[in-house]
Amino acid sequence: MTLAAIPCRTEARPVLRERGQREVFCGLTGIVWLHRKMQDAFFLVVGSRTCAHLIQSAAGVMIFAEPRFGTAILTDRDLAGLADANDELDRVCASLLERRPDIKTLFLVGSCPSEVIKLDLATAAERLSRRFLPQVRVLSYSGSGIETTFTQGEDNALRAMVESCPHDDARQLLVVGCLADVVEDQFQRLFDQLGIGPVSFLPARRAAELPFVGSGTRVLMAQPFNGETGRALTARGARILSAPYPLGVEGTTAWLSAAAREWGISQASLDQVTLAGRERATAALQPHRQKLAGRRLFLMPDSQLEIPIARFLNRELDMQLVEVGTPYLDRQMVDAELDLLPDGVLVSEGQDVERQLDRVRQERPDLTVCGLGLANPLEAEGLSTKWSIELVFTPIQGYEQAADLAGLFARPLERKARLAV
Ligand code: SF4
Repeated sequence: MTLAAIPCRTEARPVLRERGQREVFCGLTGIVWLHRKMQDAFFLVVGSRTCAHLIQSAAGVMIFAEPRFGTAILTDRDLAGLADANDELDRVCASLLERRPDIKTLFLVGSCPSEVIKLDLATAAERLSRRFLPQVRVLSYSGSGIETTFTQGEDNALRAMVESCPHDDARQLLVVGCLADVVEDQFQRLFDQLGIGPVSFLPARRAAELPFVGSGTRVLMAQPFNGETGRALTARGARILSAPYPLGVEGTTAWLSAAAREWGISQASLDQVTLAGRERATAALQPHRQKLAGRRLFLMPDSQLEIPIARFLNRELDMQLVEVGTPYLDRQMVDAELDLLPDGVLVSEGQDVERQLDRVRQERPDLTVCGLGLANPLEAEGLSTKWSIELVFTPIQGYEQAADLAGLFARPLERKARLAV
C-alpha cells in the first residue's frame, strides 16, 4: 500500500482518556541510552539519594570505563541558603570539568525532590556556560518523575540542545531521536544511495557537533516521543516530514519515502535502493509471524512507542490488538501511525492503573507489553509480558533490525510454550 492510499481516520478514532495513578519510570532513565550515544557528554543529575540509586542501578552495570553520569545530591540543609546551593553546584561542576577534559557538553539534569525544584538550573547552566565556553557547553533539562514519563527525558535533553544549534537556512535532512550507531550508519548509507543529503542526526555521536537549523531543514522524527524537540525545531524554521516510524518493513519504507518525496526522488529509485533490505527483512520476519499471528496483544502506556509498535505487530505479524495504551497522545507525532491502526481497536491515553489492570485480567491477552513494575505481578497471574523499556535499549529501527524487533515479542510466548510442555 502506498502512503497516498491510506485513508485518514484519526479524527474519527475514539480515544479512552484516563487520569489516575501511573506506573512509569521517570525521565532520568533516558540518561542510560543518551550517555552511551553522546560520547563527549556528561549528565550531572541534581537530585536526591533516590535519584542516585535509580541512575546507578539502571546504568551502573553497563559502565566499564569512567562513567559519564553522576549525581550531585542536594539536601534540605543545602537549601537553607540558595546562594550556597548555587555556589556548591558551581564548585562541583568546576572540579568535574577540571578532572575530565574529555567532557564537551555538560547536562545539568533536574529531578523532582522539592529541594531541587527550588533551584533554577536553567540560570545555573547559562552562568556555567559563560564560564566554560568554548571548551564546554552547559545545558539543563528536567528528568523529574512529576513531569515526565521515562522517554521524555530524551525529548527534554534534545530540546535543550536545539536552543544552542547554529542558524543556517541551507537545505538538509535532520533525523531526530537517539539511534544506535549501527542503525544510524545503515540509514546514512540508504540516504547516500538515494542521493538525499546532507544528513545530520540529533543527537550526534559527539554532542558538541550540533547540527544547524533553519528554513531549509527538513526533519524526520526517528522516535515518537520527541514532540517538544520537534516543536522547538519548527519554531526555528524547520519543517517536520509527516511519516510513520522506521519500525518494520512498512514503517521503514514509508519513513524513507517521506524524505525521498521531499528530495524529488522517483518511486522507482526508492524501490531499487530499498529492494534488498525489504526482501531480507520480509524473509527474516516470516518465522516470527508463524509464532505471533493471531495472538492477542495488550500494550500498557509506558514508552510512547506503543502506537508504532502496535501498527508493526498488527500489520506485519498479524497480531490482534486488544488495547493500545500511550502515556500521551501527541497527534502531531503519531497521526501517520494512527491512520494505520485497524478500525475498532481501543486506543487509550494516560493511565488509571487499577482500571487498566482490570481490563487486562478480563481480556487475558496472549502478551502484555508493560513497564517493569507491572510485569512480575502479571506473570504471577499466568500472563506473558514484555518489558517496554527493552524497546529503547535495543536497536529496533530499520530493515536489518525488523526481525530482532519481532523476536522481542515472540520470545516470551516461546518461553511460556516451553514451560507448558
Ligand atoms: S527524579 Fe523523582 S522519580 Fe526520578 S528517581 Fe529522582 S526522586 Fe525518583
